[in-house]
Amino acid sequence: MRLILLGAPGAGKGTVAKLLTEFDGSVQISTGDILRSAVKEGTALGKKAKDYMDRGDLVPDSLIMEIMEARLQEPDCQKGFILDGFPRTIPQAEDLAKLLAKLNIKLDFVANLDVPRDVILDRLTTRRTCSNPTCQAIYNIKSNPPKEDGTCTLCDHQTIQRDDETEEAITNRLETYNLKTAPLIGFYGKIGMLKTFLSLSSKDTVADIKKALKA
Ligand code: AMP
Repeated sequence: MRLILLGAPGAGKGTVAKLLTEFDGSVQISTGDILRSAVKEGTALGKKAKDYMDRGDLVPDSLIMEIMEARLQEPDCQKGFILDGFPRTIPQAEDLAKLLAKLNIKLDFVANLDVPRDVILDRLTTRRTCSNPTCQAIYNIKSNPPKEDGTCTLCDHQTIQRDDETEEAITNRLETYNLKTAPLIGFYGKIGMLKTFLSLSSKDTVADIKKALKA
């Protein structure tokens, strides 16, 4: 499958993407995960991105396009990919369209995960992420806690609240989403590529997306 997952921070794009990869070997490409690993490793990219990320601002489009141009040409993308958190702005979507045309890749569709704002806020403030960069499992202290408090069930590393999940950063991320990313709904709607899924449970959303892929 070749999909874009669109949705506000906390809409469940990461969880849905991970579940979809189990379906046909398509890879999840999360620009957020790529950037967080770069920050952890202290690479040049990480140094450029860190301050934007901590504030809940978007990293400049040029940096993101550099990452994605290279990533989409890696061999593991040949089976398919699920873009999680990219594109995030109209210029990124326009550049992605050019890049896909150049690489002769056609998308199945853009899945817009629609989640009510109160659900999003609750999810973001109760979310915990595994601190191991190669695991990054996501938990929720209310609905999906790790077996042992504060410890990842999969790899035993500590689970943490991300720097960009403080209340101030969350408010900023949601404002940034409304301003810069929500216009992509109209962008992809106009060219007939958008399918919107009311997304309250990741498992149901994955089933709905699979059905839409078969249709
Ligand atoms: P995420 O995990 O997708 O919420 O991403 C975490 C942070 O990484 C965002 O708040 C941005 O600072 C940055 N980021 C991730 N993807 C993008 C993107 N496509 N464009 C710009 N910034 C991004």
